[in-house]
Amino acid sequence: MSSETQTSHSPAIDSRRLLADLKALARIGATAAGGVSRPAYSDADIAAREAVRDLMRDAGLEVRVDAGGNTFGSMRGRMDAPPIVIGSHTDTVPDGGRFDGALGVLAAMEVARTLRDRGETITHPLEVVDFQNEEGGLIGSKIVSGRFTADALSLVATSGRTIGDGIRRLGGDPEHLERAVRRPGSIAAYVELHIEQGMIIERAGAQIGVVEGLVAIRYWDVTFEGVASHAGTTAMTDRRDALLAAARFVDAVNTVVTSTPGRHVGTVGKLAVFPGGANVIPGKVVLTLELRDQFDDVIETLFERIEREAKRVANGTGTRVTMIPTLRNAPSPTDPRVREAVARAAEDLGLKTHAMVSGAGHDAQNMAAIGPAGMVFVPSVNGISHSPAEQTEDQDVINGANVLLGAVLRLDATL
Ligand SMILES: [Zn+2]
Repeated sequence: MSSETQTSHSPAIDSRRLLADLKALARIGATAAGGVSRPAYSDADIAAREAVRDLMRDAGLEVRVDAGGNTFGSMRGRMDAPPIVIGSHTDTVPDGGRFDGALGVLAAMEVARTLRDRGETITHPLEVVDFQNEEGGLIGSKIVSGRFTADALSLVATSGRTIGDGIRRLGGDPEHLERAVRRPGSIAAYVELHIEQGMIIERAGAQIGVVEGLVAIRYWDVTFEGVASHAGTTAMTDRRDALLAAARFVDAVNTVVTSTPGRHVGTVGKLAVFPGGANVIPGKVVLTLELRDQFDDVIETLFERIEREAKRVANGTGTRVTMIPTLRNAPSPTDPRVREAVARAAEDLGLKTHAMVSGAGHDAQNMAAIGPAGMVFVPSVNGISHSPAEQTEDQDVINGANVLLGAVLRLDATL
């Protein structure tokens, strides 16, 4: 079959409608720099979710907000089967971009509308989801997958509200989060379209990224303790400078990470110096270490090497070092059936695919705990994300949505 014949028979979303929706949603929380600021639980976040619910109602979907504050719009299937769930999130980082999350939700809406317009019901019910507070630690999908613990309700989100207050603001019920939890096996599949936020697809000369899995992420708080003393009267040889130790540590992390072959990354992104005076030798530095890889044991090996380097640095500077783990997200492979559906849907459209690992965390990794989950990635121009400069070309937006539609139809027929 020629690709032309295939295309003419392939279902297609209404690209103009989708692009117009993206533009309209980007006006909510728009920043002067051309980006979007919709931190979870802010006024802009609430307004964006309301706009998504309006779209859902217009499309004839049944709208509900679960106890966790997530928005769902559902469409009946021909059978009373577990639903195929598609979507993403509409919250953003402060001064973020127009595509991160929003693309996945609006493309999912477009898939639902396309099916409605064709007067077609699929076998499985279809649910469009807009998860809450993805950027603050995948909170909405954590609640749905039963991985959220109530003690985190008091944590303060970027918008300044606690997660508990935020959930209430979204129309959820933080006292009864268990009502939002969905059991393993209760969904047929979860598929999320998202921008890549890197340059892997482009470098591979492809148009669609088929996500094989999401990386494991681990954080540590690293503290170097020396002695704070007078910068003018303490001889260089008598100093126990915690910042000097921290500086050597930052360099050592980079050396360890870059000298070990693989796709892992390591970052020191935050550093606090105490007491923090121009004329005081730093007595204490607290910094963060973040390591990511597809495999947990790779991270473990890297960490052991970094820990050895940290002790060597502490010895050399007369300081003490402690390294305390603060976050551990397990690696999360996607389901082979979803990967296959995504890859075949892309091939049907004549698009080149590239199998890849996601270096960022996504709601799909929580949804993987309750059903077969997978992701479709589309290119980000220059790999820029979490920035007003975040950009995805119109054609890639359209490709991504069409692949999502094709994947839903394939999964509907095969699951
Ligand atoms: Zn996102």
